[in-house]
Amino acid sequence: MTWAPFTWVGGVLHAEGVSLEQLAEDVGTPVYVYSTEMIRRQAARLRETLASVPHRIHYACKANGSLAVLSLLRSVGVRVDVVSGGELYRARQAGFTPDEIIFGGVGKSAEELGDALDAGVSLISVESLEEVELISRLAAARNVVARIGIRVNPEVSVESFHEYIKTGEKGDKFGVPYDQAEKVGLRAHALPHVRLCAIGMHIGSQLSQLAPYGHGLERLEALIASLRAGGVDTLTHVDIGGGLYVPYNGEAPADLSAYADTVLPVAKRLGLELIVEPGRFLVAEAGLLLGRVLYRKHAGGRDILVTDTGMTELLRPSHYDAYHRIASVRDGRPQGRFDVVGPICESGDFLALDREMDDASPGDLIAVFTAGAYGNAMASNYNARQRPAEVLVDGSRWAVVTRRESYAELVQREVSTPDWRASA
Ligand SMILES: *Cc1c(COP(=O)(O)O)cnc(C)c1O
Repeated sequence: MTWAPFTWVGGVLHAEGVSLEQLAEDVGTPVYVYSTEMIRRQAARLRETLASVPHRIHYACKANGSLAVLSLLRSVGVRVDVVSGGELYRARQAGFTPDEIIFGGVGKSAEELGDALDAGVSLISVESLEEVELISRLAAARNVVARIGIRVNPEVSVESFHEYIKTGEKGDKFGVPYDQAEKVGLRAHALPHVRLCAIGMHIGSQLSQLAPYGHGLERLEALIASLRAGGVDTLTHVDIGGGLYVPYNGEAPADLSAYADTVLPVAKRLGLELIVEPGRFLVAEAGLLLGRVLYRKHAGGRDILVTDTGMTELLRPSHYDAYHRIASVRDGRPQGRFDVVGPICESGDFLALDREMDDASPGDLIAVFTAGAYGNAMASNYNARQRPAEVLVDGSRWAVVTRRESYAELVQREVSTPDWRASA
């Protein structure tokens, strides 16, 4: 791929046609910057990959739920996958219609499930027998038939760089354990207010190998065969989840043709419409986090760059040991070796440790790449930090699509004087 969302033009890093130096002047730092073209391209690549079978792409909006990003994805024909009442609300605010929404998640409350039924979402992805029975009662009370899918844990072993992003191994909290899935499916089929439409899996994130998809799909195929043999004649979809790999440090990108070879024959054999739920793949490379170096220290033999951004804006390095490439917005810097840390009062507040990278001095802007997924979505107010602004770039134009949080917003839900009530 020759086109890139972020390139140096005249010595200054640009997002598409917009100078990040100029943007930092206008909007301040830290700020998230997203390339619309990169998001469109990723969606188009995935659509081409799946073109030979009936399919639906449901974006896992936990990766980046900004309204402008959601609305952009919707405009290119992508649907959405939500995992909470809050995400359902976000998706609706961004313009998704209920028939474009899948509602999943391991711990949905009765209230959230009721909201999903009231909205009329296209599918509720369930993860236990108890949840099926709860949905059945809620649907009966509303006199509707709930369309559900069962998320199965296919119990395959998964290669991923961190334990926290594996979700399809034996004993994981996610999905219906494989050996219970047939029973749950038959039970769902017997309930009058539930229609079993889909069988699915999501085995983890950032999967560098395709074999686990293949093994998981084999198990789904066997399960679907036994459900059909048991009289289940309502299945319309097979859902293979997300997990597509994204390079963070110049690795080879996901092999989409090998992905197609693994997945498409199964969908064809089953005669079911394919659902995929990519999160990271659609948005990660489209985003960067722009920050500024505040101080430079030398301590214990290390050179430390203290910046105005850290774990409150980008948790992945400290939470998952994740690697994010960092560069100076100004080209042609000599190389050095640095710890890049944030201003938060935690030793775990870093963006990179012992990193060979561009030399930088106080006042310099730095770009933290591949931050479009699980970046701002995981941002917090720890240390009473204001959550950052988000900017969308489209060619030579740009727009603030999320303004920086204000100090007043930090305290607006709170009172300093308790409004005491007597306990009963
Ligand atoms: C997180 C998640 C996804 C998306 O995962 P990515 O690795 O970002 O593609 C898809 N489906 C479910 C159920 C998820 O929880």
